[in-house]
Amino acid sequence: MPFDDRGPWRFRGDPLALEWVAGGWHLRVVQPYRATKVYRCPGCDQEIFPRTLHVVVWPEGSPEQRRHWHRACWQRHFATLRRAEGRRRGDDPPPSR
Ligand SMILES: [Zn+2]
Repeated sequence: MPFDDRGPWRFRGDPLALEWVAGGWHLRVVQPYRATKVYRCPGCDQEIFPRTLHVVVWPEGSPEQRRHWHRACWQRHFATLRRAEGRRRGDDPPPSR
């Protein structure tokens, strides 16, 4: 099951881990049964309740910067990042790996 088949995310590693990489970001889907704590989403500043499917995202190579997001909030934020990147580079870069 793709995380978002409209986006640039590519599947990485063990299919059961549900980990994805794109644009220098690393994403892991947190299944409801594994979500046991309350997190605050940086996208909307609302709580992510336990038993809610959400995502953990961090810059590749910097796992200590990991943040929990609502999936929709991250998708919106990521789309904004991609647009900003496209404006800066003037194109939409292909995957580097
Ligand atoms: Zn949110």
